[in-house]
Amino acid sequence: MSGCGGDAGGSLAAMATHTIRVHGDPVLRQPTAPVTDIDGALARLVEDMIETMYAAPGVGLAANQVGVQKRLFVWDIGDGPSVAINPYVSDHAGEWVYDEGCLSVPGLFWPITRPKQVHLTALDLDGNELSIEADEMLARVFLHETDHLDGTLLLERLDAEQRKEAKRTLRDRALHLDAR
Ligand SMILES: [Zn+2]
Repeated sequence: MSGCGGDAGGSLAAMATHTIRVHGDPVLRQPTAPVTDIDGALARLVEDMIETMYAAPGVGLAANQVGVQKRLFVWDIGDGPSVAINPYVSDHAGEWVYDEGCLSVPGLFWPITRPKQVHLTALDLDGNELSIEADEMLARVFLHETDHLDGTLLLERLDAEQRKEAKRTLRDRALHLDAR
């Protein structure tokens, strides 16, 4: 997820960054598979995802956005980087409107209404259970990234009018690229 406000921050260490897949790439439409092994390879993937998120910059990144079909995402809304492995979001409450963007649909933002509060359960890199009550921005990131892991893009959360406009913009952009 790319946020409108805030500074994701973070220092740029010498870790590898991945290419972020964009709208149109089929990998973004496929639900991811649960993580079965939390090992060194997964820890390296998480490090690289965090680095990729900071470089973008964004406040959240799901594994399938870098082409990895595994159910995990990373986030940092200003409190330092974290990872959620096999996340599950429940207890949706309230409503909150926010200008939401997505690193896979770069540069576009829409006011989207989603629940204001959610509860996230997941595992961390040590295999310990995370249980987080999230509000507003953090809840938004959790909902946005678990959408990705379920194969749902932000474009599917738009109303009919927003979607029409978005399709036109994306088509114009594609034509623009072809013309170069
Ligand atoms: Zn996104």
